[in-house]
Amino acid sequence: MAVSHRAPGASIRVADAAGIAAAVEALDAGGLIGLPTETVYGLAGDALDPGAVARIFAAKQRPADNPLIVHIAAVGELHRVAAHVTPLARHLAADFWPGPLTLVVDAAPAIPSITRAGLSTVAVRLPDHPVAATVLAAADRPVAAPSANPSGRPSPTTAAHVAAELGHAVELVLDGGSCPVGVESTVVDARGDHPVVLREGTVTREQLGVAVRRTTAERQRSPGTRYRHYAPSCPVVLVPRAAISAVLAGQSPSALDRTGVVASSRTLAALPPGPRIIAGFDDEVDLARNLYGALRRAEEAGVSRLLVETVPERGVGRAVMDRLRRAAAQP
Ligand code: AMP
Ligand code: MG
Repeated sequence: MAVSHRAPGASIRVADAAGIAAAVEALDAGGLIGLPTETVYGLAGDALDPGAVARIFAAKQRPADNPLIVHIAAVGELHRVAAHVTPLARHLAADFWPGPLTLVVDAAPAIPSITRAGLSTVAVRLPDHPVAATVLAAADRPVAAPSANPSGRPSPTTAAHVAAELGHAVELVLDGGSCPVGVESTVVDARGDHPVVLREGTVTREQLGVAVRRTTAERQRSPGTRYRHYAPSCPVVLVPRAAISAVLAGQSPSALDRTGVVASSRTLAALPPGPRIIAGFDDEVDLARNLYGALRRAEEAGVSRLLVETVPERGVGRAVMDRLRRAAAQP
């Protein structure tokens, strides 16, 4: 299928019966769509079609050694993707699907090499979003859907984010509103007897019953976690709550006017006037939901740097701090 070139925003479709039918038709034809999930918007294509998957890698400029997550419509579809489903994978699927947990399992022969970046394993997830669920059930095939952003950019959490940056690469973007979770899924290697966390997400270590400290196996991590990621065009500086006022106090009025702040509501309430308030948050779950949108708003506001208040590294805070550290990493 020819890749269509449309004006940004022109491809957003209401996720009604006609929009969903058009999305499924595009997937059938080997085309790509923007698909809302509970985590972030995905750039979705037929996971079994190497041509469609190649278009995903090209559109995102994703390194070829970073495998894709395959999405399925029901737990019973796992056998279409996995060569072997361990008791652990079965338990985790029963406990956490549909939901923001991705399982790495041995890949079925039907999964093309390009989808799994040449690995013998594949990452699979059953998303918890009504639009994704309807599309996946109607498409009746596993769908590869990495986040719908150019590699390295903040992930998209609205249809408009997808249309603005990858509108030219998709047949359409289904509008499912703002993503309720806001950060990518937890990735777990489910091949052994115990879950090994490869990427932090909002399904927490506490919920999975795994050690809060990283084990040696976990340090191998997912291929994708090697890359700098999620970065807006302005530098991001992580600041503990107690230090924010001191960091701001040393600045001239014009420097303050070019400084953006993302901080908790209670920090914001005590902040002196001057900096640009980009976003406030109640807790780490709220920050997760709003993080990528806030990074994009900081860019739009044209600030020359963005201060972000750190959150405690427990529960969902671990996923938030993982994304923030990579957004703040030097290129
Ligand atoms: P994204 O699709 O952008 O949310 O990224 C998917 C994440 O899952 C990346 O960190 C990948 O490296 C990881 N991943 C996908 N497939 C595998 C696999 N077979 N083994 C380990 N990690 C994987
Ligand atoms: Mg991604």
